[in-house]
Amino acid sequence: MLLGPPGAGKGTQAQIIAARLSVPAISTGDIFRANVSGKTELGQQAKTYMDAGDLVPDAITVAMVSDRLAEPDAKAGFLLDGFPRTIAQAEQLRDSLAEMGHRLDCVLELVVDQDELVRRLSGRRMLVDGEWVQRDDDKPETVRHRLDVYREQTAPLSGFYEQAGLLARIDAIGEIDEVTERAMAALEASGEQPGAPAGG
Ligand code: ADP
Repeated sequence: MLLGPPGAGKGTQAQIIAARLSVPAISTGDIFRANVSGKTELGQQAKTYMDAGDLVPDAITVAMVSDRLAEPDAKAGFLLDGFPRTIAQAEQLRDSLAEMGHRLDCVLELVVDQDELVRRLSGRRMLVDGEWVQRDDDKPETVRHRLDVYREQTAPLSGFYEQAGLLARIDAIGEIDEVTERAMAALEASGEQPGAPAGG
């Protein structure tokens, strides 16, 4: 699982790392955005929260992730990006993974300072139908709010997973390749830790 503030590069790294590990990258933000553009009921429920830079309520998000994790391609492993984002989501994830006979191997925290985050987010553009557009929630006021939401609701997960012995922190400033190499090294080291629970 990848943990880190908006703008830390989770989505970018998730794609690369998941491809290297041959597992699907599961991004709650991407699933929500696909539902918003597809104008589904889930998309309509999520949109107001997303546009405001708030978290979508846990009940909606957890149900959506459980459905996604039950798909066949997630059987042999998966990389989570953007979920869990609250302690309640983390507890529910732990319980539903246990029910499925899975567990998290490693939580990688991408560490980037606040100034760099604001710089990255306000300059970020996405290619949609051949045009570069700014995500509605990347507007400066919304960015500030998302960073506050991260600090208040998501950052506590760092301590939660540290206590569970699952956390590895990596410096996420530098070239994309460099960050990927740090991530892969941390993942390998986490698999080699003495006392880590046996696989299965
Ligand atoms: P970023 O990490 O840059 O904030 P995401 O694409 O991960 O971008 O998320 C965009 C928005 O989608 C969030 O601001 C939030 O409204 C919603 N969202 C994504 N993941 C979750 C989650 N696990 N719980 C609640 N809301 C979420």
